[in-house]
Amino acid sequence: MQTGNIFIVTAPSGAGKTTLVAALLAADKDVQLSVSHTTRQPRAGEVHGEHYHFVDRATFEAMIARKDFLEYAEVYGNYYGTSLRWLREQLSLGRDILLEIDWQGAQQVRKAFPQAVGIFILPPSVEALGERLRGRAKDSEATIEARLAVVRSEIDHAEEADYLIINEQLDDAVRDLIAVVRAQRLRTARQMQARGEQVRAMQSQAR
Ligand code: 5GP
Repeated sequence: MQTGNIFIVTAPSGAGKTTLVAALLAADKDVQLSVSHTTRQPRAGEVHGEHYHFVDRATFEAMIARKDFLEYAEVYGNYYGTSLRWLREQLSLGRDILLEIDWQGAQQVRKAFPQAVGIFILPPSVEALGERLRGRAKDSEATIEARLAVVRSEIDHAEEADYLIINEQLDDAVRDLIAVVRAQRLRTARQMQARGEQVRAMQSQAR
């Protein structure tokens, strides 16, 4: 069986990444979302095991020492990391997986899996992003200011991705994200792995 695709979605906070990814997952049941581990405190409404595996720093550091993570990074003073075992299991089952991680993690994943597809989501402007963060009203003003301060440096990494989606209109951006996933599945090398027999049968019939 062929291994699945890895999609990495990266965006500065407030760019609409979570909404876009939720829309993709609702539209495409064949994409599995990786649930990261983090030392951050849960926000209101966040569920352990669904949004994140929430762990304390000592647990996270023990996992680093055991090499449990495909990648990990410190973002806004908290650790975030992707489970290597989960990823390997899903890939070996031929499942397409999606990682919602920051640019540092994206770099590490691409090093380990150069075939991974990087997608960067940009807001229409930095001002729009500030408004969205405040509108979300889940974080304190100090947290929002700290987040805006790093947004510019995150945006500097946009060009490292294979695809850039500018989230001006949510519906368009959702369609763009779905299109990237579908196009990746149609790459010739993938199609020949998945449906090579059918293609070869047609080629020999045509001879
Ligand atoms: P938040 O705290 O808003 O959920 O996430 C903060 C940042 O951490 C976001 O940019 C998010 O993509 C990133 N992030 C979430 N999980 C991971 C992970 O497993 N690894 C890395 N490197 N970044 C992550």
